Amino acid sequence: MGFKTDIEIAQEAKMKVVNEIADTLGIPDEYVENYGKYKAKIDYRYYNDSLKDRPDAKVVLVTAINPTPAGEGKTTTTIGVADALNKIGKKTMVALREPSLGPVFGVKGGAAGGGYAQVVPMEDINLHFTGDIHAISAANNLIAAMLDNHIHQGNALDIDTNRVTWRRCVDMNDRQLRNIVDGLGPKADGVTRQDGFDITVASEIMAVFCLASDVIDLKKRVARIIVAYSRDGKPVTAGDIHAEGAVAALLKDALKPNLVQTLEGTPAFVHGGPFANIAHGCNSVIATKMGMKLADYMITEAGFGADLGAEKFLDIKCRMSGVRPSAVIIVATIKALKYNGGVPKAELQEENLEALEQGIPNLLKHVENITQVYKLPAVVAINRFPTDTEAEIALVRSKCEELGVNVALSEVWAKGGEGGIELANEVVRLCQEESHMEFAYDTESSIKEKIEAIATKIYGADGVDYLPKAEKEIRNLENIGLGNLPICMAKNQYSLTDDAKKLGRPVGFRITIRDITASTGAGFLVALTGDIMKMPGLPKVPAAEKIDVDADGVISGLF
Ligand code: ADP
Ligand code: MG
Repeated sequence: MGFKTDIEIAQEAKMKVVNEIADTLGIPDEYVENYGKYKAKIDYRYYNDSLKDRPDAKVVLVTAINPTPAGEGKTTTTIGVADALNKIGKKTMVALREPSLGPVFGVKGGAAGGGYAQVVPMEDINLHFTGDIHAISAANNLIAAMLDNHIHQGNALDIDTNRVTWRRCVDMNDRQLRNIVDGLGPKADGVTRQDGFDITVASEIMAVFCLASDVIDLKKRVARIIVAYSRDGKPVTAGDIHAEGAVAALLKDALKPNLVQTLEGTPAFVHGGPFANIAHGCNSVIATKMGMKLADYMITEAGFGADLGAEKFLDIKCRMSGVRPSAVIIVATIKALKYNGGVPKAELQEENLEALEQGIPNLLKHVENITQVYKLPAVVAINRFPTDTEAEIALVRSKCEELGVNVALSEVWAKGGEGGIELANEVVRLCQEESHMEFAYDTESSIKEKIEAIATKIYGADGVDYLPKAEKEIRNLENIGLGNLPICMAKNQYSLTDDAKKLGRPVGFRITIRDITASTGAGFLVALTGDIMKMPGLPKVPAAEKIDVDADGVISGLF
């Protein structure tokens, strides 16, 4: 259609050397560790040395309605509204997740924004970046190696080889590794057992990395991770096999936030990237908190729709870190609203006011959750796509206005910061309102009460059913003293229910919990509503087939 691709726009950008970006934030050179010209890590010692007593920025969370399979432009909006805020004179920073190689080579492509609202260098950010995710893989696999070695060397902890819960990981969509048998061969080659790989971003180390407040906290969290059970059913932790020190040593540089820039020179931290189903789905606490000391506005994104991403950002990350957002942007697209109104994926480009109107209740449910459950000011950002018609945009706007819902049109994909001024002004206005955020549940409640609070208040369910496995695990977890942890719901992202096909705003449904697992290092319990894919596969035609590099090292085909 004549639009430039994301990578074409990114490659045309005149980037500033990253030290100039660090200078605009006033970061002294001694804390800036360059990874090439356009990427730097910022030493976390800067926080304790100089930042901790500064006032905090206003935090703005960017979330979305239930998405279509393509993604709805949360990252794009996060970057664009930050550029717009800088344009209207507000000192603003961005904090985002690091992309995983799995989706980059699979279906979704890159995760560094889109159009004229991107972070750059986009190729680096989407590929190895500063190596954090590789470090996390190594840390995860060190625990695996130490654990199997412990078993091989006499198994003093009496680990039940059928109950090793720790899995190996690699940052790739590789279904071949989902279930494996390892330790084959003679006795000297280890103990034969069933094993498997998860994608690195689904590992507990990634969640721990993103929730840790510093290296010492990281070490404590790693020591708490349950890696196996003994033959008499007792949990065995990474601390029991003395792995925490070496794991933290492997991660000490990775733990420093990565500084890059948007196409318009807005400083951005891109750091940590946990899945939003099995984990909490937002960038590191360390990056968020450092950014909050370096700017007056800190814009950050949570994965998937607001029922998963925002819920976990607020109930898990905010609870653990003390971060409190001042406002929430709920991204809606005409396409996703039509999808929620029942239009099949292939027909989303065509104008369909009827379906659009039928999809709007989905948006309204998320708005209600943010304003009525969490008591936070919210604005709907209509992320404008080239295929949207004026009539469609006018319909969403008027429906929101009719119901007293704040709404702004966002054209940051097409126009960069200039296209986000209306949204930025609305964000500034909302940040001036006083807010007293509440959580959806109290951690002191029972495990079932917490799950029911999320299901009924956030999803709109009538109640929750538990399969026998979940019932048994709930009793077990409460007996071993883990009943007071927050809940991380593992649910599909497309529906407010646990059935991905029930779109819009369903009523009269129940949620089924099949199993519960403890991520004791991260500090939450994962409640599984269905089979959660921790090692995705590649599609029939992977995005990787179109990616190339020329003799000068210029990459093409990334999107
Ligand atoms: P999310 O963070 O919600 O997953 P992204 O911001 O990563 O979504 O965007 C997903 C994809 O959609 C990207 O390839 C981006 O370029 C594209 N995109 C986002 N907003 C628009 C828009 N307004 N018009 C066209 N394409 C868009
Ligand atoms: Mg995103």
